[in-house]
Amino acid sequence: MRKRTIRDIDWPGKRALVRVDFNVPMDARGHIVDDTRIRAALPTLQYLVEHGAAVVLMSHLGRPKGVDPRYSLRPVAHRLGELLGRPVHFVEELVGPQAQAAAQALGPGEVLLLENTRFDPRETQNDPTLAQELARLGDVFVMDAFGSAHRAHASTVGVARHLPGVAGLLVERELEYLGRVLENPEPPFVAILGGAKIRDKIRVIHRLLEKVDTILIGGGMANTFLAAEGYAMGASLVEEEAIPVAARLMEQAPDVLRLPVDLVVADAFAPDANGKVVAVSQVPEGWMALDIGPATIAHYANHLAGAHTVFWNGPMGVFEFPAFAKGTVAMAEILADLSDATTIIGGGDSAAAVHQTGLAHRMTHISTGGGASLKFLEGKELPGIAALQDAET
Ligand code: ADP
Ligand code: MG
Repeated sequence: MRKRTIRDIDWPGKRALVRVDFNVPMDARGHIVDDTRIRAALPTLQYLVEHGAAVVLMSHLGRPKGVDPRYSLRPVAHRLGELLGRPVHFVEELVGPQAQAAAQALGPGEVLLLENTRFDPRETQNDPTLAQELARLGDVFVMDAFGSAHRAHASTVGVARHLPGVAGLLVERELEYLGRVLENPEPPFVAILGGAKIRDKIRVIHRLLEKVDTILIGGGMANTFLAAEGYAMGASLVEEEAIPVAARLMEQAPDVLRLPVDLVVADAFAPDANGKVVAVSQVPEGWMALDIGPATIAHYANHLAGAHTVFWNGPMGVFEFPAFAKGTVAMAEILADLSDATTIIGGGDSAAAVHQTGLAHRMTHISTGGGASLKFLEGKELPGIAALQDAET
């Protein structure tokens, strides 16, 4: 179901109460380490400002237990002001009298950031009174925090009971591209799945199997599949309890699932471990697979050539260690070079890995929601999306 968006609202004279995801990493001195999430909100905020809305912003930051100045959003207000090129007002309150007064005083095109929603314990309880108090700060609720859309909190779901709710441009984009993966991927459609655990992703695999031509398996997940095929995996991360599931999947879709043919194995789980390339049948006892090998990369490149849709979730190895990042970097390079394909990346670590390669700008879409994107791809309705008004058809 399509959702109404900020484009469907006549903004002049209205206050937009916008839930953004400004949950940015900060260092010990309160400096923003990475402002990607603030930048991701700019299209929506620019649109609202240009269309005459008064803009009231709310976000969580970290997991404070009550009011804790280390988790104040004040530095974010400052950075957002620089990026927007206009002043951003800030109040040290979420719904108190100062916040109400500041929201009332806001003129068209002005921007106000409220203090961390999680300073109020009622936020995560989705408390109806907090939702009501929040709703007084705006006329229309705009949901643009895709990464928080799987959580039913007062600022993501509760508030939409009291105000008309519409999607921001970031959420609209997420729904468009992730929706395409589930609904109408242009074939050939190839999925690349890796990361740590099958268990976290089993429902996504089942959903994808209905749509894909090929699934390329890598990362820790591949170890469990290889174990299910009878290979001795040494000290590799293997999910014993998921072996039967992996075996069933291989039986069910032998022509769709592709497993590594070689691996980079290490004698320890460490950045400076000794490493070597071995065939999947030759993992030495006590060694562990930390990356896919060069022959696997070449095979996977062949499968990807000519793809029109590619969805990638889960790194191909322990990319946090440069010595074991080659498979992940190679996949990012292959995707970047596909000229004729829609390339969609989901998952927190996968997104981080792609940003790390410097090739992020050559992907069609990198989801900003780690957990939320996986929930969405399981086919589950996200509460923060369900709460928005349906578009008129
Ligand atoms: P995402 O967040 O993109 O969904 P996951 O959280 O499932 O991805 O997995 C990412 C983690 O998987 C990374 O921390 C990475 O180090 C780990 N990983 C990948 N391959 C292996 C492997 N062969 N052995 C152990 N851990 C691995
Ligand atoms: Mg992860």
